[in-house]
Amino acid sequence: MTTLVPLRVLLVEDHHALRANIAALFEAHGHVVDFAADGRSGLRMALAAPPDVLILDLGLPGMDGLEVCAELRAHADRHVPVLMLTARDALDDKLLGFGHGADDYLVKPFAGEELVARCLALARRHLTGTSHVIEVGSLRIDRRSGTVERQGQRIELAHSPYRILLALAEHWPRTLTRSELIHRLWGDEAPPSDPLRSHLYALRQALDRPFERTMLVTIHGVGFRLEADA
Ligand code: CA
Repeated sequence: MTTLVPLRVLLVEDHHALRANIAALFEAHGHVVDFAADGRSGLRMALAAPPDVLILDLGLPGMDGLEVCAELRAHADRHVPVLMLTARDALDDKLLGFGHGADDYLVKPFAGEELVARCLALARRHLTGTSHVIEVGSLRIDRRSGTVERQGQRIELAHSPYRILLALAEHWPRTLTRSELIHRLWGDEAPPSDPLRSHLYALRQALDRPFERTMLVTIHGVGFRLEADA
C-alpha cells in the first residue's frame, strides 16, 4: 500500500530493534521517519516540527506515552494524529490511551503492514478533517447535505442513526465506546435504559443489510467501530 504523498512519521519507541524494523518498513513505503528513544525528546521533537503521524510507545523510560500524549495535546498548536503502541492489551490501557488523547492504538505484537495502513488512515482522516465529505471504504457521508451513500447507493437514515454513523466515520478506524457514543448523541441528558440499541439496529438495517460486507462492527465489551469495505 504505497501512497503518493509521503508521510512524515515520528516514532517514539525505546526498543531498538522494533524501532529499526518499523522505520525500515515505513521507508520501504516511501515515508520519512524520525525517531526518539524516550518520551521527553519525542515530545520536544513533536512540538518543534509536528509530524503527520506520531507513533508512540506506551511504555517509555522517564515520561511514558500517556504523559507525552497529554503534554502534546496541551501544548501543540494543532492536532497531531497519535497512534499508541501498547504491549499490554488490557482494556483499561486502551481506554486510558484514548482518555489522554490518542487517536488509535495497536497492541504488540502487530503486523507491520497493519501499522502502516492505520497510520495512512489517521493521516488521511486528519488531512480531510476539514472537508465536508468523509469517506470510509465505499461509504461517503456529506456533512453539509447530511446524505449518505454506500457503493454509490443512497442510504436513508433517521437523525440518531445518522449521528452514530457520523461519529464512527469521523473517528475511523477507532473504536468508540458506548459511553462516548451516548455522550456524543445526548450529552449529559442520555435517556434511561439502553438508548443506543434501537438506533444501532436501525443503522445496521440501512447500512449493512443490503450489502455483502458488514461495516458496523461490535467490539465486545468495548464498543463499536466501522470497518472499511474496500
Ligand atoms: Ca517500550
